[in-house]
Amino acid sequence: DIPVITIDGPTASGKGTLADETAKALGFAVLDSGALYRVTGLAARRAGLNLDDGHAVAAIVPTLKLGFRDGHVFLGEEDVSARLRAEATGLLASQVAVHPPVRQALHDLQLSFRRLPGLVADGRDMGTALFPGADLKVFLTASAATRAERRHKQLISKGISANITSLREDLEARDERDKNRSASPLEPAQDALLLDNSDLSIEESVTQVLDWWQQ
Ligand code: C5P
Repeated sequence: DIPVITIDGPTASGKGTLADETAKALGFAVLDSGALYRVTGLAARRAGLNLDDGHAVAAIVPTLKLGFRDGHVFLGEEDVSARLRAEATGLLASQVAVHPPVRQALHDLQLSFRRLPGLVADGRDMGTALFPGADLKVFLTASAATRAERRHKQLISKGISANITSLREDLEARDERDKNRSASPLEPAQDALLLDNSDLSIEESVTQVLDWWQQ
């Protein structure tokens, strides 16, 4: 059996960083499941599809020529990593993610990221739908104010200007959609350990997860 650690939580809670750092410490692979929903949303928009049509969006998933190299995501020859991280793409992702056929189309692709010596998977439903038998499940939270501030700093550091109030509104809107959808809504697995990182540094959060892992 391949060991799996799942890290689920709301938008901009720091899941990606925590997953990357935990994986690095353990020598594990990483699944950034949000990137798969983002690339699906982006490709659907580019293809001019109606994003409310779950079957049409799901149908393009097997046609996507996805590549994952050095932490970058490629669509054909194009490095779409920067485009995927844009807030606008996050909104597209949450729109296509409500559809059960889309979630189904991405299911096996997500499972295929498992490899020895282990996997850290981050997203919304890693501990509930994808890896219900995971060895350690973490549900990460942080206040909306904290999350908006972090996202703001991140964008500013990349030279992208952003308005903190509208960032907070965007992430709260996305959280509402993720929590209220009927397919794999955002909620902690029953056996998940809750980690509120509002007042924790990245190092402190990583240390907590590694402590849980070693127990
Ligand atoms: O985590 P990230 O912000 O990249 O995810 C983008 C969107 O993709 C989320 O708001 C959510 O709607 C969707 N998603 C999902 N299930 C996952 C990962 C992401 O529904 N496992």
